[in-house]
Amino acid sequence: MSLIIKGGNIVTDSDCFNADLKIVDGVITSISSSQDVKSNDQVIDASEQYIFPGGIDPHTHLAIPDTVDDFESGTKAAAAGGITTIINYVDAVKGHSLIETLKEWKQKAEPSIIDYGFHSIVNEVNPRVLSELTDLASEEGVTSIKLFMAYPDANMINDEEMYELMKQAKKSGIVTNIHAENGSVIELLIEESLKKEHTSPIYHAYTRPAEMEAEATHRAIRIAELLNTPAYIVHITCEESLKQVIEAKKRGVPIYGETCPHYLILTEDKLKQDAAEAVKYICSPPLRTRKDQEFLWEGIKDHWIDTIGSDHASHPYKDGKDKGINNFTKVPNGLPSIGDSFSLLYHYGVHEKRISLQEFVKLTSSHSAKIFGLYPKKGAIRVGSDADLVIFDPKLSRTITAQEQYQSTEYNVYEGTQVKGAITHVFSRGELIVKNREIIAESGRGQYLYREKYNK
Ligand code: MN
Ligand code: MN
Repeated sequence: MSLIIKGGNIVTDSDCFNADLKIVDGVITSISSSQDVKSNDQVIDASEQYIFPGGIDPHTHLAIPDTVDDFESGTKAAAAGGITTIINYVDAVKGHSLIETLKEWKQKAEPSIIDYGFHSIVNEVNPRVLSELTDLASEEGVTSIKLFMAYPDANMINDEEMYELMKQAKKSGIVTNIHAENGSVIELLIEESLKKEHTSPIYHAYTRPAEMEAEATHRAIRIAELLNTPAYIVHITCEESLKQVIEAKKRGVPIYGETCPHYLILTEDKLKQDAAEAVKYICSPPLRTRKDQEFLWEGIKDHWIDTIGSDHASHPYKDGKDKGINNFTKVPNGLPSIGDSFSLLYHYGVHEKRISLQEFVKLTSSHSAKIFGLYPKKGAIRVGSDADLVIFDPKLSRTITAQEQYQSTEYNVYEGTQVKGAITHVFSRGELIVKNREIIAESGRGQYLYREKYNK
C-alpha cells in the first residue's frame, strides 16, 4: 500500500509547484504531475493547500528540571504545530560522562511521537571531555555541542575553555552552538540592580543589555574565526548582535544565526506590564526593543539569519514563574512556544509579506537540516527523503489559546493571537500523526536521529 497526496502546492526552499506525491515505507518515491492510484492506496486530497517539509525545531528544552513538558507532551505540541523533528538540548553534569548523560536523555525521549536528535551542552574541559567529543560525533550521531558564555553559577565557560572545545569540535566534525551573553558583567549589573531595589521584571532586560550580547557574540565569532570552525549563534535578539554575524559572514567565516519567534513578535514592553503578567515573558537573552525587532526582520529578508528555533522551555506559572513576581532574579528563564513557532512565522513572515514561501521553508526546515547533518533525509521534499510533511490551508485561520494547546503550561504567551493559515495534516515518515489538530500517533513512534558530521 502506498500513500498518495494529490494536487498540493509543494513548497521547497527553492520552488513552489503543483504535483502528486507517492510515499512508500515512509519515504517519498515519486513526485509527478499525475500519480496513478491503486485500489488499496491511501489518498489525501491536498488541492489548494501548501505542502511544506515538516518543521525542524533546532532549539528545544523538553524534560528539563522544573518544567512541565516531557518528550510526550512536548512532541505532541510540536507535531500539532507542524514540527516533525526536534533537536533537544542535553543538560551537562560536571564530572559526568557526556556519553552516559546522552544515554539517559535518549531514555527520557523514548515517548516522543516525532523524530529527535540532541545537542550536548558542555561546561568543562578535561581530557575525558575532549575525547568524548569524538565519540559523540562518530558513534552517537551528536554532531553539535553548546557552550554558554553566561550563567557563572551553572554552565559558563571562559575563553580558554571555549578555544579548547571549539578546536576539538572542529577535529570531530562538530558544530559549536553558542549562548552569547557576557555572564560576568551581567552578574555585576544584577547585583547593582538588586542593591537599588530595582527588582521588577523590566530589570531583567536592563541587566542583560544588548551590548553584552553583542560583545559575547563578537568574542565567540572571533575565536571560531581563528580556528576556522563553524559556530551557530543561538537566539539572536538584537541589532548589535546580528551585525556581528553579518560582518563575520561577509568575511567568509562559517557562522550561522538563529532567532526565535518571540524576538520577532514581542518586545520588552511585555516586561513593563503588571509584574504578575510580566513574569511570563522573562527569557534570556531578554525581549528587546521595536528597533531591534525591525532589524531582525530586515536580517531575515536579507538572508543573514539561517534558522528559527522556539527555545521552548515550559516553566509553569504557579510555583514557577510566579516565584519571581517581587524579584526578577527568581523567575525561571524561558518561554513555551514549540506548538506555535511554525504558524507564527507563517503569519508574521509569509502572510504579512515579509518573506517568501521558499524563505519560510529555509528558516523552518531546510537550513537546520543542512547545518545539523540531517539533509536531505529531513528538510526536503524530494525522492528519497523522509515523508515528513505538513499540509497547510492558507485560507483558514486559527486563534492561539492556552486552552487548545498541547503544551502543558497553564498559559500561552501568544494568547488570543489570530494567525492566518491552519495545519490540516502532519505526516512523519509517511504516517499521518495529526489531522486538524487532533493527534493520532502512538507515543514512542519517534526515532532517534544519528546526524552526519558537519561537512561544508
Ligand atoms: Mn540560551
Ligand atoms: Mn535555550
